Amino acid sequence: TEKTMEKIVALCKGRGFVYPGSEIYGGLANSWDYGPLGVELKNNVKRAWWKKFVQENPYNVGLDAAILMNPEVWVASGHVSTFNDPLIDCKACKMRHRADKLIEDWCAEQGRTDVNVEAMTNDELVAFIRDNGVTCPGCGKSDFTDIRKFNLMFKTHQGVTEDSSTEVYLRPETAQGIFVNFPAIQRTTRKKLPFGVCQVGKSFRNEITPGNFIFRIREFEQMELEFFCQPGTDLEWFSYWREFCHKWLNDLGISDEDLRLRDHEPEELAFYSKATTDFEFMFPFGWGELWGVADRTDYDLKQHQEHSGKDLTYFDQEKNEHYIPYVIEPSLGADRVTLAFLVEAYDEEVVGQDKKGNDDIRTVMRFHPALAPFKCAVLPLSKKEVLSGPAQQLRDELAKEFMVDYDDAGSIGKRYRRQDEIGTPFCITLDFQTVGDETTPADGCVTIRERDSMQQVRIPMSEVKDYIAQRIRF
Ligand code: ATP
Repeated sequence: TEKTMEKIVALCKGRGFVYPGSEIYGGLANSWDYGPLGVELKNNVKRAWWKKFVQENPYNVGLDAAILMNPEVWVASGHVSTFNDPLIDCKACKMRHRADKLIEDWCAEQGRTDVNVEAMTNDELVAFIRDNGVTCPGCGKSDFTDIRKFNLMFKTHQGVTEDSSTEVYLRPETAQGIFVNFPAIQRTTRKKLPFGVCQVGKSFRNEITPGNFIFRIREFEQMELEFFCQPGTDLEWFSYWREFCHKWLNDLGISDEDLRLRDHEPEELAFYSKATTDFEFMFPFGWGELWGVADRTDYDLKQHQEHSGKDLTYFDQEKNEHYIPYVIEPSLGADRVTLAFLVEAYDEEVVGQDKKGNDDIRTVMRFHPALAPFKCAVLPLSKKEVLSGPAQQLRDELAKEFMVDYDDAGSIGKRYRRQDEIGTPFCITLDFQTVGDETTPADGCVTIRERDSMQQVRIPMSEVKDYIAQRIRF
């Protein structure tokens, strides 16, 4: 059986992970809403990131900066002048393309691996399209307009007047909030180098070609670390964080088979970067960037020092000298990596034959238990009060610790399947033996069925909380 985007999108919509945005009004292109299960999943992803990058990490602290910032920030960062995509239109069918992506997709189709669009100027992009007869995927013709630069930042107005003096941008990345707070954080935490600052939050980009479900959207969340270190130690820290990020993905169930760490060639590197690695994941639509890890040198802080006129140097007491730290930046999209976890988890398994001899297929989301929306489901064998009473009591007790589902409708087999489909790692069944009846004495035990192996164990009800807590740890 094959993992396709259609199946994953359908499951997400049908079970309440992700719905199309504003659907009752006909939608808003490429906007998505996280439903009851999706919000749990994405929160768990962000929590797993925060736990490893902030809570357990001796070097890093957290930050939650504003989305709207002084517009000068985006002049200093380079976003006002250079955060442009090369836009090109097909003259025949009017389809709009990003010139670099057009070439990339065309090369992939032609099996060409010798072309590196990231190292090409706009003129080179145009020349390549012309000289190689790159065709429009919409109509197959090869007749395009010139490239226009299109700035990806969303603009809005602050205050009541709409003149240009009140113009502000929705941040296109969370990183700059960290850079501008660097001196305040260093001063208040009294951290010595090396140390890092982590932030999770919304970013906005007016993408020309959004799509592939929640892979590329205009409003998305980022999880970014800016790690400040002494110049000269940066490449060591770069490998440290590259490995750290790799381990985080592996530990949460992303296998190396679906992962590729692509180190940028020297000519592909941004002019300020000494080293960059793109973590790419094998999505059903092909390899796509998940995580960018970059050595950004002292570029960002230097820019802000120049534009703000404030001293952003760090005083190194041991060396008795002031300098601008170097920065390692691992930048991850929360929505993108959530999609990767959905894709990785999706599985269909033949578990037998039905009466007509057709394969009986079990759809199961094999999420790491720390990511699963519900950690367990309480399933009383019958709706009778003798069982529903203790079952609800158990639910209430477990719900103090983690998310618990409760389901008393339909056959137990169907209920297991429903939980498999949303990735619940443990199902807890209460039966008449649990509470006892005229013929059987109560044993106070419940049956716990594990999602992946479908193995069952019977344990005392009082041990359930610890049993599950131990197995969902990350
Ligand atoms: P791309 O080449 O795919 O546009 P990028 O190189 O511009 O991505 P960065 O600016 O490095 O991306 O952003 C860091 C991370 O933020 C990306 O690796 C990705 O996970 C996430 N991200 C960026 N743009 C989007 C988007 N439009 N939708 C969802 N996630 C995004």
